Amino acid sequence: MLKDKTAVITGSTSGIGLAYAHAFAKEGANVVINGFGDPAEIEKTRQGIETEFGVKALYSPADMTKPAEIADMVALAEKTFGSVDVLINNAGIQFVSPIEEFPIEKWDQIIAINLTSAFHTIRAALPGMKSRKWGRIINTASAHALVASPFKSAYVSAKHGIAGLTKTVALEAATFGVTANAICPGYVWTPLVEKQVPDQAKARGISEEAVKRDVLLAAQPTKEFVTVEQVAALAVFLASDAAASITGAIIPVDGGWTAA
Ligand code: NAD
Repeated sequence: MLKDKTAVITGSTSGIGLAYAHAFAKEGANVVINGFGDPAEIEKTRQGIETEFGVKALYSPADMTKPAEIADMVALAEKTFGSVDVLINNAGIQFVSPIEEFPIEKWDQIIAINLTSAFHTIRAALPGMKSRKWGRIINTASAHALVASPFKSAYVSAKHGIAGLTKTVALEAATFGVTANAICPGYVWTPLVEKQVPDQAKARGISEEAVKRDVLLAAQPTKEFVTVEQVAALAVFLASDAAASITGAIIPVDGGWTAA
């Protein structure tokens, strides 16, 4: 479905981003993967995508806190593959702390990675999309783009911001064949969630098992973690021609969390 298209996916060395990379490569798109990790592991991932799906995969080490590196990543993708057709803003981190103790540098880092990086990627990739009259911008937001939880002030603020950015870009790009949508997962079992379990336990003074049961899945009526494949499948649909009229949408994939 996406043969000869190029998808740039930020934060795709792990978790949801990696699932997007696999899903888009499976549809025939060349992919640019990005994110941190062990260089040998990343190279194995990159080669694995090329071998398994018969597409080209490029790795960009761009740090999403660095505007110049972000612009270089988009330029490299355009130079290598000729276009950036699908842009998925997905890089993200979490930090859990009461607001009075929230480290200032953590606030700045979360806003930079989870929100501002998407401004920079869109700013760089949108002109090409508009000129070709086709493009798909897909932002990984979160149920926390729609509702809040305590101790996640920076994350909730960044994700609400991503929702606003998504709607604004959708309006600006609407007559150019370019859509912009946000996917709002509930709790997906990935390293990001796994890592916050001990912090949540500390902040709330409860056991790690209790965090999973009474904090994370308490909000999710299905009582199941969302899978990375379910999130990626929605992104593939949003990139299809069938989804051409879906734009500016903030779409929950949260097991009913935000219905409550
Ligand atoms: P993850 O920790 O598995 O992956 C995060 C990715 O971002 C990694 O590839 C990491 O290297 C990359 N990254 C971090 N800092 C970066 C930086 N400065 N520059 C470039 N890359 C950077 O996490 P995940 O759970 O797969 O999360 C992916 C996205 O999904 C995030 O935006 C997150 O907020 C969102 N999300 C996750 C969940 C969940 O339950 N896991 C729920 C809702 C939304």
